[in-house]
Amino acid sequence: MRTVDLHTHSSYSDGTFGPTELVSEAVRVGLAAISLTDHDTLAGVEEAQAAGHLMNIEVMSGIEISASHEGNSVHILGYGVPGHDPDLNGLIRDLQEIRTTRNQKILARLAEQRIIISDDDLQAISRGLIGRPHIAQLLIRKGIVKTFDQAFDRYLKKNGKAWVQTVRFPASEAIRIVKNAGGLPVLAHPGAVVNKASSIRKTIEQLTSHGLAGIEAIYPGHSTTLNRQLIEIAGEFHLLVTGGSDFHGNMKQIRLGGRPVMPQVPYTLFQKLKDRLAEKSPDHAPSSLQTLPNTQV
Ligand code: AMP
Ligand code: ZN
Ligand code: FE
Ligand code: FE
Repeated sequence: MRTVDLHTHSSYSDGTFGPTELVSEAVRVGLAAISLTDHDTLAGVEEAQAAGHLMNIEVMSGIEISASHEGNSVHILGYGVPGHDPDLNGLIRDLQEIRTTRNQKILARLAEQRIIISDDDLQAISRGLIGRPHIAQLLIRKGIVKTFDQAFDRYLKKNGKAWVQTVRFPASEAIRIVKNAGGLPVLAHPGAVVNKASSIRKTIEQLTSHGLAGIEAIYPGHSTTLNRQLIEIAGEFHLLVTGGSDFHGNMKQIRLGGRPVMPQVPYTLFQKLKDRLAEKSPDHAPSSLQTLPNTQV
């Protein structure tokens, strides 16, 4: 069976592989297609697609937008989005600005505790977006903590010693922007948003009324039961089903493609995504697979 991985991160957000390296890893593990879905940025997409072209593997443009819904943190995947949409780029700029402000506040809180991380340290550790995982890495590097989990537990998670609340965009807004840009908005890892099946169903129903096009049913953190329930819910609301490993390179244990902890994502699901994108813009059917202009850093 030909398989795909539709949720991956590169060093343009908090992954450790560069886009080209990510694509060659996809070839190595035998995937037929991937989507690069960096947090709040499209900056790695052009390189990933150019590498895909050279290595003869399909690479769909993507993004994972940090948003919220009814107080819960929600990640909206946007598939097949172009690089030049003004509203999407406006959203990306706003999200980056929010992050910059928050990062400064986190560094200030750490400094109050005599833990000095400079702005230069932060800039040097990422090519694009900078988030708490990068600060966690620096805390390890400076010998303040031993592990990633310790960094979050002691300092970075809610109520940790350097916790700073973030401003989140409404998921409905992220969905609208992805849709208007010609992409497909998909709810990432629904199991991580709320944990009861009935609440998940309610959240999906509400987001569907805002234009959600699909749900990420296949995900390493989902049990077999949840996976089945999500596929049923997708059927009920006529949503696409997607899946991905949420690969972060060496940052997390999970391997690209998700073996052996995640059911493999069949190419047929990816084909349905492509068909839906082609329906949306019949003039440029394979638009999601074209090389995109680099829009922001
Ligand atoms: P940020 O977008 O800067 O708020 O960082 C969120 C990212 O940090 C998530 O996507 C996770 O990858 C990671 N993260 C959040 N909470 C934890 C935690 N308790 N332990 C380890 N990683 C975490
Ligand atoms: Zn991440
Ligand atoms: Fe996520
Ligand atoms: Fe992710």
